[in-house]
Amino acid sequence: MSGPAPAGGHGPVTDLHVHVQPWEMIRPEVLEAMRKGRDDLDLIRRCFADPEALLEHMDGQGVARMVLINYESPDIMGFTTEANDWVLRYVAAAKERLLPCVGINPRFERDVRGRAERLADGGARMFKVHGPHMLVSPNAYLDAHPALRGLYEVAQARRIPVMFHTGTSIFRGARTKHGDPLEVEDVGVDFPDLDVIIAHGGRPFWTEEAFFLLRRFPRFHLDLSGIPPARLLEWFPRLEEIADRVFFGTDWPSPGVPSIARNLAAIRALPLAPALLEKFTSSNALRLLPPR
Ligand SMILES: [Zn+2]
Repeated sequence: MSGPAPAGGHGPVTDLHVHVQPWEMIRPEVLEAMRKGRDDLDLIRRCFADPEALLEHMDGQGVARMVLINYESPDIMGFTTEANDWVLRYVAAAKERLLPCVGINPRFERDVRGRAERLADGGARMFKVHGPHMLVSPNAYLDAHPALRGLYEVAQARRIPVMFHTGTSIFRGARTKHGDPLEVEDVGVDFPDLDVIIAHGGRPFWTEEAFFLLRRFPRFHLDLSGIPPARLLEWFPRLEEIADRVFFGTDWPSPGVPSIARNLAAIRALPLAPALLEKFTSSNALRLLPPR
């Protein structure tokens, strides 16, 4: 699976950012926002209930691997830390293709370090810090939540990337101020060996700040999810400068993301060299998150 792309074809695609979550936990008003305008709810429910259904759907969409984003946000989204354990169980049947991402909320967990170690032992491949849904700033280890430091130290020591939501969020109760990418700058300064993923590139109004950080810190990476492909080169005109650290992701099935395959096709249709697009969709992810 990690071999070179066949001549004229594509290497295995990784979608770095999908929300396959235990919907039985989700708050009704969040579910309502997710449902709006979708006609594929049955498919989503089937996929969330059964990893085999998701794998089949991935085959149809042209995706080899996915990172399944979960995190603790009981008051805004409805997900307790049980969502973390849920995703570790969910991926058990296909660990080569389904990579679990978990998130610990220091507002509800005192022993962040201990839980991070246990989740890493359980197979977590990524940690998510969703400021607007956790109501925690990425740099809160400096003041309100000193325990958050434990997460970054564990992730740095075990070479597990940490993904930060940057940019807006529309769900009820979400506080976008915690999505300001400049709050991740402290993390870059204080944890220079940590692999950081800037999800959504700060879109729509912090994209310049996000690009500044991506150029400043060699271990910062850009996840394209949530960025309409048609806007990508307008918001990131110098994308080529960070070409080895850019990743295809869709945020499926979030509002405004009807189909993974359509998103992938739109990325591949951008006026960029095929070698760059191959990095974004395949080889960069195989390097950051190698099959194991
Ligand atoms: Zn997301």
